[in-house]
Amino acid sequence: MQRRPGFPARLPGSGPAPAKAPVLAASVRKPVAASPVGVGLDSAAVRARMVQKLAAGGVTSVPVLQAMGAVERHRFVDSALGNQAYEDTSLPIGLGQTISKPNVVARMCELLLGAEGARAGGLGRVLEIGTGCGYQAAVLSRLAREVYSVERLRGLHEKARDNLRPFRLANLHLLFGDGMLGYAKGAPYAAIIAAAGGDAVPQAWCDQLAVGGRLVAPMALAGGQQMLLVIDKTPHGLKQSVLEPVHFVPLKSGIA
Ligand code: SAH
Repeated sequence: MQRRPGFPARLPGSGPAPAKAPVLAASVRKPVAASPVGVGLDSAAVRARMVQKLAAGGVTSVPVLQAMGAVERHRFVDSALGNQAYEDTSLPIGLGQTISKPNVVARMCELLLGAEGARAGGLGRVLEIGTGCGYQAAVLSRLAREVYSVERLRGLHEKARDNLRPFRLANLHLLFGDGMLGYAKGAPYAAIIAAAGGDAVPQAWCDQLAVGGRLVAPMALAGGQQMLLVIDKTPHGLKQSVLEPVHFVPLKSGIA
């Protein structure tokens, strides 16, 4: 795949820094040798059981169930946690962060696919805030034409790049930067999904959402309870729905 013109290729310097627009890492698309296999479990069968449970739990979207069945979640967690990779639990991924529960990933992806603008021909460009280990980004890459995923912690951005390299997902673009700024160069987005919760929706996300697009994000409401929020951008303005309580790591500004 050709690099799109105009993307900065260099990573910014380390350490705390003022907010800067996220920059694109090219290395996800580097060809690499096949990854090692074998985690001591028959992962396809275990994944199929996970998918059955997701369906029994109310996930109905066939593309989402297929994507969840295809992406090898055990490759995104520490090998010591591999035997828990297909349980409906969040797991540590380092630097105090967690990979979201399969159920939550599936639920959020299903919500994105329900957007007005996605009904006709699937999802176009998607922005993910909080790459973490890269698992949800890999799932999204099977559901959308292009995925831009931003991570503010350099260590996790690099870990995700390593985790994702064997998958060779040409439509997935990893960015290192502050996702609170969105990523203007990829806008407008058919969908924006946040894997970290703040107490207000950054203006940039609403600005970068296409008309007909949908934003799905955890958000702390008055009283501190974190809830899943859906914002649809209609020709007449933003329409907000508050769904169920959720537990995501905090959305933070700046890079580290
Ligand atoms: N989707 C991820 C979940 C990772 S947890 C996965 O599948 O693993 C949420 C991530 O959001 C953390 O890695 C955290 O560092 C990141 N995050 C928090 N605030 C952010 C911000 N402003 N910009 C980008 N990433 C952010």
